[in-house]
Amino acid sequence: MSPLASLSGVLRARRIVTLSDQSEGSSLRWEDGRIVAVGSPSEMSRPLPAGAPHLDLPDLLVTPGLVDAHTHFGMWALGTQRVHLAGLSRPEALAAIATGEVDDGWIQGQGWDDNDWDAPPDRRMLDDLHPTIPVWLDSLDVHAAWLNSAALDRCGITAATPDPPGGRIVRDASGAPTGVLLEFAVAMAAASLPVPEPHRLRTALEAAQRRANALGLTGIHDVGDRHSRAILEAMNSDGGLTIRVLAHPPVAMLPELIAAGVRSGTGAGLLRHGGVKLFLDGSLGSRTAWMLEPYAGSRDRGMPLATAEETAVVMRRAVDAGIALTVHAIGDAAVRRAFDLMEPLPRLAIPHRIEHLQCVHPDDLDRAGRAGIVASMQPAHLLVDIPLAERHWGARSAGAYAFRSLRARGAVVAFGSDVPVAAADPRHGLFAAMARTGLDGRPVGGWYGGESLTFDEALSAYTIAPAIAEGTAAHRGRLAPGFDADFVAWEIDPLAERGDAHAVLAARPRLTVVGGRIVWSDLS
Ligand SMILES: [Zn+2]
Repeated sequence: MSPLASLSGVLRARRIVTLSDQSEGSSLRWEDGRIVAVGSPSEMSRPLPAGAPHLDLPDLLVTPGLVDAHTHFGMWALGTQRVHLAGLSRPEALAAIATGEVDDGWIQGQGWDDNDWDAPPDRRMLDDLHPTIPVWLDSLDVHAAWLNSAALDRCGITAATPDPPGGRIVRDASGAPTGVLLEFAVAMAAASLPVPEPHRLRTALEAAQRRANALGLTGIHDVGDRHSRAILEAMNSDGGLTIRVLAHPPVAMLPELIAAGVRSGTGAGLLRHGGVKLFLDGSLGSRTAWMLEPYAGSRDRGMPLATAEETAVVMRRAVDAGIALTVHAIGDAAVRRAFDLMEPLPRLAIPHRIEHLQCVHPDDLDRAGRAGIVASMQPAHLLVDIPLAERHWGARSAGAYAFRSLRARGAVVAFGSDVPVAAADPRHGLFAAMARTGLDGRPVGGWYGGESLTFDEALSAYTIAPAIAEGTAAHRGRLAPGFDADFVAWEIDPLAERGDAHAVLAARPRLTVVGGRIVWSDLS
């Protein structure tokens, strides 16, 4: 048997971070995909099955495998084939779009952010470059899309098209669409986009899972669309997955999920069913996050994407069918509504959760812990959001990304990336949670530095907390006998373990193991 196929092995490292108080040490033994011993020399010397690896890694730190608790994996996978606009000024973006490749008859791109642009995006800028080829460009936070006239045409959007509920077709003074769509108007128009060809999507997803494994990720909680979900399920059935998946389907799939008898927390192989994904509001970047008070210097409070009554009906239907809730809420008004609607609902096999939970009113800080609702947060958004939150939320930012306050009040805080909105690299999230600064180290001392986490706390938000969110905490997320052998060996400066966030950024994953199997390694 080759070492790559083996589900057993032993290793010796500089240190094993177990996140468990039962065992400590520098050696680890696993058999048939499960940990059997940590730090016990007699256990390490027992013979192993033929071909099982025996790894001597005296300079490396071993941690439980990291789980990215919020991905848009299919979008990330296909993103390599799209025009990249993140971090670009308006002229730079237009230059990139001008040379964009036509694929399936469309030019598609993602990542634009007009917060510092000299002029807002408009279809006419794109029409000058591409008068006949339809162009579709998702914003960085994917809550807005920018289309040219040919794309508006294909999507059937004219001056006469009414705004869909929870969405807005941005219009100029004459009432004509500017080409920018917000929230549910994006989803409405996206129905006209070409469906990715399954073979191509699978190839892209396989490449994406290799990249994820190489980043030290052993699992994802994927907020995916139906196409990528179908491919991930096929990969799970035929043994093609090398990463664990908790799949959160879009709420549009609720009727078919109920008809198929899918229940949250069930699954087989590496894929489990998560909760159904609902949106209560938009995003900070698009100023569509729904706030209790107006954005600073404006009368705009963002917007709820549905009425409380409508949302309550959908939630009740899901929960009655054994399907948990995965609820997007960013602004403090949306977060409050999420608690109001979810607190009275029964708990299921896996907990309900709120995605992002970026701005929490002080009165609501203890509600996640009290109701057992998981706070699924993305610290790496801090790397770019600090100036934006300061500008638009002002003093309300005291309740933004409130990792420590939420934890102190008993909330399970799980970390993810929101890739491709932010980089998939969990080192960015660990850094942001520990430092609370941009990558340039500013502001010095960290933005609301009292909310910073230690290395072990931030790590547990990528390991123990996602396991709680999956309902697998009894056997996953820590390194202890009986637990799944999901772990990563890192080349990392010991200063990182003592709180040096920049040392975390410089760390290098060298070995990733899922269910006892080496899924990625660059050890010679
Ligand atoms: Zn997301």
